[in-house]
Amino acid sequence: MYTRIDIKITFRCNNKCDFCAQGHKRDIVTDRTLEQVHKDLTSAYANGSRDVVFTGGEPTMHPHIIDCVAMAKKLGYHRIQLQTNGRTFAYKGLLERLKAAGANEMGPSLHGAKPETHDGLTHAPGSFMQTVSGIKNAASLGMHIITNSVITSANYKELPALAALLVKLGVRQYQFAFVHIIGTALENKKWIVPRKSEIMPWVKKGLDVGIEKDVLCFTEAIPFCLMKGYEQCVAERIIPEGPVADGEKFIKSYGDYRRNEGKIKAPSCRPCRYFKICEGPWREYPELYGWKEFRPVPGKPVLRK
Ligand code: SF4
Repeated sequence: MYTRIDIKITFRCNNKCDFCAQGHKRDIVTDRTLEQVHKDLTSAYANGSRDVVFTGGEPTMHPHIIDCVAMAKKLGYHRIQLQTNGRTFAYKGLLERLKAAGANEMGPSLHGAKPETHDGLTHAPGSFMQTVSGIKNAASLGMHIITNSVITSANYKELPALAALLVKLGVRQYQFAFVHIIGTALENKKWIVPRKSEIMPWVKKGLDVGIEKDVLCFTEAIPFCLMKGYEQCVAERIIPEGPVADGEKFIKSYGDYRRNEGKIKAPSCRPCRYFKICEGPWREYPELYGWKEFRPVPGKPVLRK
């Protein structure tokens, strides 16, 4: 099976989110040059990648974003995605140019069902309206839209309304990703991190919206033991495998990185039926709140396919 390369092409961003995992990289790390991007794309292609996701920061703030996309298309990449805050898609002309260059998947992020919630988290007044317009524009151009929303203390009660809004806007897939306590989120850890066990009723109601409407929906960084009845929505089962080009770092396998370094399971997880396929929470979560919420699930072991 082929893989997907994730290239962080710039850490510039027009939002300043309270949960940003990239922290202050925007002030330190320079844009990836077109030569670097070409090297990333050609070597990943030679190693079996056929999909690419341009991320950041905000990838559409890279001065040569159209060239990056066109380069991927010329090299033969199939799925060319932009993981973005979606604000610049309010300018339909840019979206049309990206589409003409070869972009075929859009990954905007919306973090609340109401402007005040989203804009409060992004510190960018008007960002909710721009991202919503961007999603509408992408839908009107027939683009495949996969959204991400970060779950925080400030927005978890809006997840069902947010899901309803995303479905109404025509997204094909949405994901609720639990805040990863690194970067700016680490600076805000005193208020931004809810208890996973407390948020689950809202998370599940948010998933019910997609399930009822046949829209794919997932959660990320919420282990199976908290997802009873919604195990099929655990995103770690479907996150594409592949490398990540991140500033000076090159991670050969994002999956291995998550399983071996980023996420963690407790010794008490061993008897759990999901032990073999569960990645556990990002390791910073139990450092903050401990392991009490994660209770091994009894039953026949579930094995990796
Ligand atoms: S392995 Fe641990 S974290 Fe994963 S589902 Fe089981 S108890 Fe929860």
